[in-house]
Amino acid sequence: MMQNPEQPTPKEEKMGIPERQAYSLNSRKVAEATRSWLQQRGVQIEEIAELVLFLQKKYYPGLTMEECIHNVEKVLEKREVQNAVLTGIQLDVLAEEGKLLSPLQEMIKNDEGLYGVDEILALSIVNVYGSIGLTNFGYVDKLKPGVLERLNDKNLGPVHTFLDDIVGAIASAASSRIAHNKQSEREVEIELPKEPGDD
Ligand code: MG
Repeated sequence: MMQNPEQPTPKEEKMGIPERQAYSLNSRKVAEATRSWLQQRGVQIEEIAELVLFLQKKYYPGLTMEECIHNVEKVLEKREVQNAVLTGIQLDVLAEEGKLLSPLQEMIKNDEGLYGVDEILALSIVNVYGSIGLTNFGYVDKLKPGVLERLNDKNLGPVHTFLDDIVGAIASAASSRIAHNKQSEREVEIELPKEPGDD
């Protein structure tokens, strides 16, 4: 006999597990969890915006902190970005609490040199706004300015194996977004037809 997926199995019934709720995604919850987890792990939006300003001010001397914050906020609205943030932070937290299985536990806890899944996960953020983001990502990863220096300090206690790459990636994606938008603005100025896209 086919089991109705929403009905508890006899075993679940015996254990008092109620009828299963059909899974439905709540986008607002995902967005809120993303913001909340970044904050709980000690990363402020302004610090990511400072990285953006650092990356872009040489190209756009008039760029303001407000614009950088706005662009970071826009990046954080993307589901691909939220997924990467939640996944990466979850792994950092579990490693910090010693709850992963060996040998992954030790690899993430010690930010093992040959473990590169943190960078690969962060690329799913960078990719949202194309290849300019990739160049910036490599650059901040080498230089580790601002908040990245703190996140990389292994003496401070918390595990940030994933978070440092995630933060660098968000800043890189926001930088890329600025570059694309500045180009569109320029094209409007010289009266080229505008392509449909976000603002
Ligand atoms: Mg890392």
